[in-house]
Amino acid sequence: MIITIDGPAGTGKSSVSKAVAERLAYDFLDTGAMYRAIALEAVRRKADLSDPRELAFIAKHCRIEFDWTQTPPEVLLNDEPVSHLLRDAQVTSAASHVAVVPAIREQLVAQQQRIGLARPNLVTEGRDQGSVVFPHAQLKFYLDATPQERARRRAAQLRARGQFVDHQEILTQIMTRDHRDSTRSTGPLAIPKGAQAVDTTLLTEQQVVDLIVNKANALQGHG
Ligand code: C5P
Repeated sequence: MIITIDGPAGTGKSSVSKAVAERLAYDFLDTGAMYRAIALEAVRRKADLSDPRELAFIAKHCRIEFDWTQTPPEVLLNDEPVSHLLRDAQVTSAASHVAVVPAIREQLVAQQQRIGLARPNLVTEGRDQGSVVFPHAQLKFYLDATPQERARRRAAQLRARGQFVDHQEILTQIMTRDHRDSTRSTGPLAIPKGAQAVDTTLLTEQQVVDLIVNKANALQGHG
């Protein structure tokens, strides 16, 4: 069974998806990490982020793979383990530029679909998983929360890592990314057809995980 979990930044998608995958003993696919890996390469090459042709060229020369023996799977960029470099602010911002380029989306969507074929018990998270990549997935969710709550969660995450945080700046970044994600022409952020929308503003991570796991179990007849 493929379970898709889409939604904007800061809704807890990553933690929820990881926990659901663990509970169900499914594989976990972080598609944002693929856009981030290309963004890392673009930053390293000092690419012009407003030039889609340059970004597409860079993407063509990026071999992105996952080491499935690790939990969560380690991201390999041309054989180099890069997971620890992908959450950097510069890479995060560059990723949303990379993600608007149609040729890059095509490349990554095709790769994600191949992963889905090879690993059919999959929890996959992103922006377009239930709409474009796996429109026939058996179970689809769309997680959301108010921008203020998402900024609060992101700030708490960064603070926990010992980083200095400016709440207003984080809120502005989240809203800028939302806008870029939902207005792009290819694979925009939207509630996929057939997806259950979950407003997580007042829910704990555990409650969201339980909700998804219970649905999955019910669908498999274990409920
Ligand atoms: O989810 P995460 O924050 O890691 O995603 C990084 C960036 O990649 C997002 O800003 C979004 O623009 C893009 N993305 C996407 N489609 C996906 C996953 C991520 O456009 N399926």
